[in-house]
Amino acid sequence: MFLKGKTALVTGSTSGIGLAYAKALAAEGAQVMINGFGDAAAIEKERAGLEATSGKALYSDADMTKPDAIHAMVRRCHDELGGPDIVIANAGVQHVEPIDTFPVAKWDQIIAINLSSAFHLMQAAIPFMKEKKWGRIISTASAHSKVASPFKSAYVTAKHGIDGLTKTAALETATFGITVNCISPGYVWTPLVENQIPDTMKARGLTREQVINDVLLDGQPTKQFVTAEQVAALAVFLCRDEAAQITGSNYSIDGGWTAE
Ligand code: NAD
Repeated sequence: MFLKGKTALVTGSTSGIGLAYAKALAAEGAQVMINGFGDAAAIEKERAGLEATSGKALYSDADMTKPDAIHAMVRRCHDELGGPDIVIANAGVQHVEPIDTFPVAKWDQIIAINLSSAFHLMQAAIPFMKEKKWGRIISTASAHSKVASPFKSAYVTAKHGIDGLTKTAALETATFGITVNCISPGYVWTPLVENQIPDTMKARGLTREQVINDVLLDGQPTKQFVTAEQVAALAVFLCRDEAAQITGSNYSIDGGWTAE
């Protein structure tokens, strides 16, 4: 329970990797604020479960395309829970289509949610962390922060941007007890991956099985999906005092994908 007394805010944590982060941080004693969209009853169930684990837990419906909402979310976390001591920029969406026909609105939405929201989150949270001389900032990047795949122009661009933002923020906060890192998973079986299968089938003219085995797992030498819990365990480690000198790093957890 090394995070007792700390507060963590995780964006995009109503499902998938974000929810795994929230649960893993709560299991170590952190009070958490979750965020994202989805079925209200399901979200309330998760919030109540987190509250039962580590004390008061909050839910924010802030839309990561809206800078004002992000600042208000961080302020509410500060006022009602304290901190935030740990922030994880995790909300993300995907769209799979060739550049020629890629809808401009989709490009703007993906850049806003997958990249700009991390900047706004940092801008709102860093002053509170500087006051306490302690902070952990983590973003969920992706193997696509290091390499590209066709038909994912906005996503690959946003995730490469997270890599640069991480390094810059790490340098700016290095003397304040704050570390800034990102985690780059390969394919993790979550709704985000499941939802892109139909578009990938269409874009590449493949069956569902072909997309799973020949596209998704093709690049992962272990031939296995990463689990959300494995990603969350790395984030928990980055919050430990032992990780105080790890900053500006981009950690792959991708079954060997980017080693090739
Ligand atoms: P997911 O679809 O399960 O979760 C996405 C979360 O983001 C949800 O909670 C959703 O409600 C939230 N969200 C979406 N739009 C939002 C908005 N405008 N404002 C606030 N919240 C919003 O997906 P996931 O796979 O758990 O993805 C989480 C992160 O991990 C993303 O940044 C994604 O790019 C990254 N990632 C996922 C994989 C993978 O294979 N699943 C691999 C590498 C990186």
